[in-house]
Amino acid sequence: MLKLKSSREIEAMRNAGLVVWEAHQIAKGLVRPGITTGEIDRAVEEFFLEKNVIPLFKGVPGPVPFPAVCCISVNEEVVHGIPGSRKLQEGDIISIDTGCKLKGWCGDCAYTHAVGHVPDDVQNLLDCTSGVLQLAIKLMGSRNRWGDVASEMATFVRDYGFSVVENFVGHGIGKNMHEDPQVPNFCSPSFRRKHDFELEPGLVIAVEPMVNMGTKKVRVLPDFWTQSTNDGKYSAHFEHTIAITDGGPLVLTAAPQSGEEKEMTGVVTTTEG
Ligand code: MG
Repeated sequence: MLKLKSSREIEAMRNAGLVVWEAHQIAKGLVRPGITTGEIDRAVEEFFLEKNVIPLFKGVPGPVPFPAVCCISVNEEVVHGIPGSRKLQEGDIISIDTGCKLKGWCGDCAYTHAVGHVPDDVQNLLDCTSGVLQLAIKLMGSRNRWGDVASEMATFVRDYGFSVVENFVGHGIGKNMHEDPQVPNFCSPSFRRKHDFELEPGLVIAVEPMVNMGTKKVRVLPDFWTQSTNDGKYSAHFEHTIAITDGGPLVLTAAPQSGEEKEMTGVVTTTEG
């Protein structure tokens, strides 16, 4: 059974989503050649501390508990990268994924940024991955079942000549970061038969396409967390927490809309994204 959220609960999740959006503005403002991924993570951790919210990623159980508030994955790293002493270089791409819990409700969001100038094929990868997330958001307003959205997502990525990662998928989200249902970015016959779900008001899901330039296959690094492409080619990742409402899909981790800015207290340098 999927836990549907009331409009009041969705409003509470929007407040968590706004904090996550603001954290991303801080992180994005730091992305430049020479900075370490650990420095970006620390800035986000300080911001969460200041906002008095609970970071969702730190301490997530695994062979070793996840040690940071952001997953930061560079170039061929797909997801779950551990921030540390790696220095960004011109031409890298950096995926930053973070989330927090505010008053009991979660928000989860990821962006991939270019570090300075990147080659055209890498820019295509970023455009494809952010584009397929935007496509999913749009389709969530007109399709009845997730499988229909997911199969159009897979086609969109295939048309770019890239591949959708299948080992990792999006998820329901609410009082917990990971709730039912699983939200794949592709649609298999067995998903249609056994796991597909209706896009109904009150559903809140984190949609997070991961797109690889080469093979869809991934492998885990010896740090137990970082997932890397099998062929070493680049990978990108974008994610939003999205609610279905009576008025259509609502992106809970999007930039503040007019009327919401007054709620913000942190350092906001841009209203993009
Ligand atoms: Mg997620």
